[in-house]
Amino acid sequence: MAAPRVIFHLDMDAFYASVEQRDTPEWRGKPVIVGGPPERRGVVCAASYEARTFGVRSAMASVTAGRLCPEGIFVRPRMEAYREESDAIMGIVRRFAGKLVQQVSVDEAYLEVTAQLPEQPDYDALLQSALPLAREIKAAILAERHLTATIGIAPNKLLAKIASSSFKPDGLTLVPESGKTAFLRPLPVGTIHGVGRVTEAALQKAGYHTIADLQDTTTDLRSLVGSWGRELKRMACGEDDRPLDLGDEVKSISSENTFARDTADRPVLRACLRGQADELAQKLTQYRLAASTVSVKVRYSDFTTLTRQVSVEEPLEDGAAIYRFACWLLARDQLVKRPLRLLGLGLSGLQEVNLRQLKLNLG
Ligand SMILES: [Mg+2]
Repeated sequence: MAAPRVIFHLDMDAFYASVEQRDTPEWRGKPVIVGGPPERRGVVCAASYEARTFGVRSAMASVTAGRLCPEGIFVRPRMEAYREESDAIMGIVRRFAGKLVQQVSVDEAYLEVTAQLPEQPDYDALLQSALPLAREIKAAILAERHLTATIGIAPNKLLAKIASSSFKPDGLTLVPESGKTAFLRPLPVGTIHGVGRVTEAALQKAGYHTIADLQDTTTDLRSLVGSWGRELKRMACGEDDRPLDLGDEVKSISSENTFARDTADRPVLRACLRGQADELAQKLTQYRLAASTVSVKVRYSDFTTLTRQVSVEEPLEDGAAIYRFACWLLARDQLVKRPLRLLGLGLSGLQEVNLRQLKLNLG
């Protein structure tokens, strides 16, 4: 067996909305919806827990959010403020965890803290001994930034992430090595790292609904999901030896079209964006990734080029949602006042897909 590891997954609670509620006290306890306003083809970037109880979700059209939650307070996203807040939080995290921090998105990180823990008689005791450190990190973030964080503690990244999503906000959940398979059993197959919508649908069609179904099967999963089958089976059993990814390479994908004749024709531009969004969504599926930043690029007849981008807390996988954000960016900054020579769509902040269902409920 590989040497025992202790991994934390830290996830800020309803991050954008919590920053807004912290900075504007009269919004506390109220349904705050961060995103574009309903009347301007806006899209929801994030919703406070109060707004989520009305069914408001990120990537939803603001019009729909407004219908579900008429009392909702729509707040224009302040990306710069969230990025600064993120830097401050990651600074605190690094103070405790040193170099072994993999920041996954603006409000999420994996920490490997094994080396900081005292020796223990067994693996479960080692995991338990990390609880005070996790409490200290949460307390420091609360004291210094007035925001709550949730931490999952587990033997690997897969389990730590599921642990942090299983109890929120202000959660602290530990998955013991001895209890990992039992912990996973009742969860839907889509919870597993790498299982996006397409794989999930294929698994369900074949009768695999919960992770227990995958643990118990004697069928070779390669017949369903190809070469990935063996890894899927291991993950279903709570095995995951992926190291922290400490490289800070920027991962992005994009698609661009240059028009034969410059155009400001809305249906043409929309069709173009929709095609690009679907093409990029297909790539995400292929690589089992999701994107947290959508950007649009326009070039005018005189070759002036502008780009605009927006980041979301819940990474996007699906073409329709990507398309909605792209349309909103074009409308918000009135980028189509002149004919376009080129239109492009890009995705960055790429991360591994998982936990879609849990995050829908818990964020
Ligand atoms: Mg979060």
